[in-house]
Amino acid sequence: MSAFLSRLRQLDLFLEDLPSPAELDAEQSGLQARYDSLAALWKLPPARIVLTARRATGGVITYGPPHVIRVSSHMSREDRLQTLLHETAHAICFAQWGVAEGHSPRFWSLAKKLGVARKTAPETERLRRVREANARYAYRCPGCTAEWTRRTPFGRARLCASCERAGRPARLILVRRPKPVRRASRKR
Ligand SMILES: [Zn+2]
Ligand SMILES: [Zn+2]
Repeated sequence: MSAFLSRLRQLDLFLEDLPSPAELDAEQSGLQARYDSLAALWKLPPARIVLTARRATGGVITYGPPHVIRVSSHMSREDRLQTLLHETAHAICFAQWGVAEGHSPRFWSLAKKLGVARKTAPETERLRRVREANARYAYRCPGCTAEWTRRTPFGRARLCASCERAGRPARLILVRRPKPVRRASRKR
C-alpha cells in the first residue's frame, strides 16, 4: 500500500471517530444553506438536508415536497459537498423532466455545471466495515437441510450435530462464500 493510500485510510478513521454532534450540526446547516441558495437560483422546491451516519457513503434524494436529501457523514467535507451538489442536480432534473431522468447525459452536464467533479461515491472506512460485516459463509447440511451462516469459514470439515445425534452423520457443505471485494463504482 502506498504512503498516499495509508494516509487516506487514517483520514477516514479520523472522520469516523471524531466529528461531534455539534460539528455535524454545523456541517448540516452549511449544506442546507448551500442547497437553499442553489434552490433560489434554480427555482427549486424546498429540501431538508440530513447529514446521516446511517449511510456508509454517498447520498440519496427522496422527492417531496419537501425533498429530503440524505448525505453520509462518513465522508470528507469536500465529498459531502460534492454529494449535496450531485443530489441537487437530481432535484433540478426532477423539476424539469420528472422522476425517470436518472443519471442521463443531461443529468451529468447539469451536475458538472454545479461543480460535481466525481461520478462515484467515495470509498470510506465505514463502507469497508459494512462490506466486511455483510460477508457471510453459508453452510448447509445435506441430511436435514439446515443452514448456518458464519462471518468466518470453518477451518475444517464439520458434521451436523443433530444428524450425528440421530445416528446419520452428515458433513456440512459450503453453499455460499463472500464475493471478492471489488473496487466497483457505486450508485449514489
Ligand atoms: Zn443435519
Ligand atoms: Zn445520483
